[in-house]
Amino acid sequence: SPKQSLKEELVELDKKHLIHPTSNMKQLQENGPTFIFTEGEGIYLKDIEGRKLIDSLSSLWNVNIGHGRKELAEVAKEQMEKLAFTSIFNNWSHEPVIRLAAEVAKWTPGDLNATFFTSGGSESNDTAFKTVRHYWKIKGQPEKKKIISRKLSYHGVAMGATSATGIEQFHTFTTSLAPDFHYVDSSVDSLKELIEKEGADTIAAFISEPVQGSGGVNLPPEGYFQEVRKICDENNILFIADEVICGFGRLGTNFGIEQFGVIPDIITMAKGITSGYAPLGGMVISERIQKELIDKTEGNFWHGYTYSGHATAAAVALKNLEIIKNEKLIENVNVVGKQMLEGFKWIQEQNSNVDNVRGMGLLGAISLEKASNSAEPIGPKIVAKALEKGLICRSVIYDGQDTLAFAPPLIINTNQMEDMIAIVNESIQAVK
Ligand code: PLP
Repeated sequence: SPKQSLKEELVELDKKHLIHPTSNMKQLQENGPTFIFTEGEGIYLKDIEGRKLIDSLSSLWNVNIGHGRKELAEVAKEQMEKLAFTSIFNNWSHEPVIRLAAEVAKWTPGDLNATFFTSGGSESNDTAFKTVRHYWKIKGQPEKKKIISRKLSYHGVAMGATSATGIEQFHTFTTSLAPDFHYVDSSVDSLKELIEKEGADTIAAFISEPVQGSGGVNLPPEGYFQEVRKICDENNILFIADEVICGFGRLGTNFGIEQFGVIPDIITMAKGITSGYAPLGGMVISERIQKELIDKTEGNFWHGYTYSGHATAAAVALKNLEIIKNEKLIENVNVVGKQMLEGFKWIQEQNSNVDNVRGMGLLGAISLEKASNSAEPIGPKIVAKALEKGLICRSVIYDGQDTLAFAPPLIINTNQMEDMIAIVNESIQAVK
């Protein structure tokens, strides 16, 4: 059939010409891509063979307002026709990016009111690492340059972001990392010991996701961030919250860190700010930091991406944030998120091979019982079963964990959540 031959053509071209992020290149040559997606609507994706699947990870933890939203297409078209792009380097500007920076300031906690825009999360984190070093330098402490991050954190793949990431596979892929990055585990003592060992006067910043996403949806220990905030204050260490996944409602508050009652010095963001309809990210800094950067300047802020403040992406972000507000999606996260966690607990009761379940807002995980060290993880088998039953979910198997991760679109309703829970349960039962 023509459909079949289109698929075959695309598979061949994909194998020959396309390098996939975090792919197994050899396996792709053997099997080709699993899905060639063609359409999306709401929480569903459709592929070239007509399969309809629940997208329980919002694609890559980002399509928060769901697929196929015409309002975003319209706003992008309008902005592209008027002014698709112009630089905001130096002293140029345009209305969409000014409006977006002002809107972001309404979403952020405390006095985090000034934004530097990027095209995504990795760039935002590299921007933050360079900014904190610059900040300490102009304040007369150039030796304060080390960055502390947590094991199992994911901060992206630019050189700084890779170096901050606490997942080993991303380190061993390349032979050397950026210097001056250090890792702690999730205990307050680990942070205290590292500061003691390295010296606070050599440390620029601590970075953490409010809830670790790619590392397996790991919630912080009780009281962790309050303690970390205190330690950072006592030692003149800046606190960067990587809100790339948690920002813009995923945990049930504007930003994830608000769940833990602390205000960071810097927020990095991406994904949910546009729900994936255009690539955009950013770094938001406090007015205190902004003032220092202005007052103690040595000249220019020598950092910027061609697409910093992309006009079309900014217009799309504004519309996306308007939709999150108008449709009260954060309220929805709190209702359906509770349902998700209760559903996971029910799944745990049904299945002896479920070790623990956890979640906050619409970010959740089911960890599977660790069999003996030599046993194969069962997560990938469950994921394959779920695909057969019409659900996309992700298996995370770093660091001896065997976990299923979930981050459905924030628009998911209670019926759809029931479907999701039922399929997950059936899929776990099927591989027992
Ligand atoms: N930080 C976090 C917490 C992320 O989850 C990601 C991406 O998954 C990134 C940073 C990197 O963002 P990007 O892939 O847009 O560069």
